[in-house]
This record gives sequence, C-alpha cells and structure tokens, in this order.
Amino acid sequence: MTEEEYTIALQNLDNSNIEDHRKDYDLYVCDKCREFKITTCDNKGYAPMLFQCDHCSFGIMRYKRTTKHVKPTVVLSHWRRPTYKEFCEMSPRLQQQVLEGLLILD
Ligand SMILES: [Zn+2]
Repeated sequence: MTEEEYTIALQNLDNSNIEDHRKDYDLYVCDKCREFKITTCDNKGYAPMLFQCDHCSFGIMRYKRTTKHVKPTVVLSHWRRPTYKEFCEMSPRLQQQVLEGLLILD
C-alpha cells in the first residue's frame, strides 16, 4: 500500500460511521504495578482493551471504565492513527486492524 493509498483509506474511515470516542475518557489500570492511565481518542476509531504497561513494562494495562468528564489537571494519553511509517512497520494482521479503525497510543 502506498502512502497515498493509506491517506485515502484513512480519509474514507473518517467519513464512515465507525466508532467515535473522541469525547470519552477511558481508564486503564496495570494489573501488576497498579499504575493507571486516562486516555482519549484523537481520531475516530477504537482503542485496544489492553496493552503492555510502560511504567513497570511487564504488567498489562486493562480497560476499566469510560467517563465523559475528567478534571482539567488530569494528564491524558492520546490514541491516534499510526503514521504511514508506523503502519509499514506493522504486521499484516495489525495493518488490517488499523484499516478497520484501530488506534495506537501516542
Ligand atoms: Zn505496570
């Protein structure tokens, strides 16, 4: 897939009626170190239910719940579309998920 084709595929996603969580705040908690993250989506699409904890690096951050409001002082992590370079480095399976709306953590 060329960069131009990738750009067009993402534009088509934006114009489709896929999930849109840009106004949601999701809480994830690590099952080992109990560190947490509050995330929001910068693009339409969906975020994974779990991912490797980048605090202790061996635990799993698991999705707990969604809220519509957070305190202004909360530090947010952002889900976004992969760049073309990031997309090219992914496995075919992951690339397919990205083309269906999967977002990655910034
Ligand atoms: Zn952890």
